[in-house]
Amino acid sequence: MDLGISGKRAIVCASSKGLGLGCARALAEAGVDLVMNARGAEALEVAAEDIRATFGVNVTTVAADITEVSGREAVLKASSGADILVNNAGGPPPGLWNDWSRDDFVRALDANMLTPIAMMQAVLPGMMERGWGRVVNITSQSVKAPIPQLGLSNAARAGLTGFVGGTSRQVAPSGVTINNLLPGIHATERADSLDGVVAKAQGISVEEARTRREATIPARRYGTPEEFGAACAFLCSMHAGFIVGQNILLDGGAINSTM
Ligand code: NAP
Repeated sequence: MDLGISGKRAIVCASSKGLGLGCARALAEAGVDLVMNARGAEALEVAAEDIRATFGVNVTTVAADITEVSGREAVLKASSGADILVNNAGGPPPGLWNDWSRDDFVRALDANMLTPIAMMQAVLPGMMERGWGRVVNITSQSVKAPIPQLGLSNAARAGLTGFVGGTSRQVAPSGVTINNLLPGIHATERADSLDGVVAKAQGISVEEARTRREATIPARRYGTPEEFGAACAFLCSMHAGFIVGQNILLDGGAINSTM
């Protein structure tokens, strides 16, 4: 399917690895020029060079922490006139409900709620003026079904979801859509590290932890960054203009609910 977005320009935050990279690659395959971002310059440049060589699109890299004001300014400076924004950042650490101080909550809210909101506030006016835009926020399945050990993530992502619910309806008349993609377990370094925590706690190998978790997913496997990226690219496509303010779960059926 021609996604109809060749020549558009996208910012993909936190995209040297994992789900962000999956989104960057799928957009590049659709002919979209990219501004890619991550903190580590080396992995970012390797990922960007591979995308340039494979898909022939323009890729600008900005090595910066997207959760810092200076990082966001650097990304935005490199990407004036962005048509597409994919918001992403690392997830907060696991723990128990009484482990976290106010500062821990402020850090999590900053990274996974206020950062994507700040990015939207920066790019939405231009998109609305031009009459076309796509925003996809990478959130989590925890928005639909809380993950007890990820209380910081549950809290921050619920706040972002509330903001998107209202804002997406306010910008839709200008041809701009905002939607959230909710990953269930996908095979990335983040999933490896969470499996590592479970393995340590239960005295089992990381492989065993993964096998046990795969058995709880109806699809009996983890998702891949490639299929996650394909869903993101579709939401950013010309065909998705009527999809507004949705929370789309990609979890292999893991959350057992009818709607
Ligand atoms: P990942 O494999 O660890 O990759 C994270 C990417 O983000 C890397 O490129 C990393 O590069 C970059 N990054 C992290 N923090 C950053 C920051 N502050 N500024 C700029 N770049 C940053 O993670 P993932 O699995 O793709 O997860 C992406 C998001 O989805 C996370 O918020 C995660 O909590 C959420 N999620 C993931 C899953 C899953 O199963 N994978 C499930 C539910 C939710 P640098 O480290 O070099 O900055």
